[in-house]
Amino acid sequence: MKLDKDSDQTTNKKEHVSDEKAEQAIKTIIQYIGEDPNREGLKSTPKRVIKAFREYFKGYQLDPNQYLSKTFSDVEGYDDMVIEKNISIQSHCEHHMAPIIGVAHVAYIPSDKVVGLSKLARVVEVFSKRLQTQERLTTQIAKTIMEVLNPRGVAVTIDAEHQCMTSRGVKKENTSTITNYFLGAFKDDLSFQNRYLRYINKD
Ligand SMILES: [Zn+2]
Repeated sequence: MKLDKDSDQTTNKKEHVSDEKAEQAIKTIIQYIGEDPNREGLKSTPKRVIKAFREYFKGYQLDPNQYLSKTFSDVEGYDDMVIEKNISIQSHCEHHMAPIIGVAHVAYIPSDKVVGLSKLARVVEVFSKRLQTQERLTTQIAKTIMEVLNPRGVAVTIDAEHQCMTSRGVKKENTSTITNYFLGAFKDDLSFQNRYLRYINKD
């Protein structure tokens, strides 16, 4: 199922690349920066790098919907927002493949069913382990929760540092970027939105 029609990330039209070919590409980059890929300390580096890459980008193999399929309806009529704060994020920007490090806050207002709390963090994880822009990451998380859980509203905030900005380019070390995406009651009813913002800004 396509979650986000604006994104080409859910269509898997890539051709398979062997480990060997990927390692060779890393070896070429090691040479490109002026190093000797056959030097003792670098011999196993291509292998280690592609293993790390498989972890950084494992989100392409995972389906975020699966984490939201198990829900609970026995919550004694709980109908206020559920907020999960400070979910750590390690992603990579699609422009430089540089790390994006930060936190996400995710909230929803259940209609009749709730989901296990760790599952919201799982959805964040799946989309962050892909090449991203922070804006797209924010909307993908929100839209997926809205589409699968059908709650009364969803709010997602991401506060992150982009290493392509902090350690290269303009080199602004303490710059962080905040993005928000609101759906349903969080968008239409400012009292919900304001309470959410107050909760996430409270230490
Ligand atoms: Zn970047």
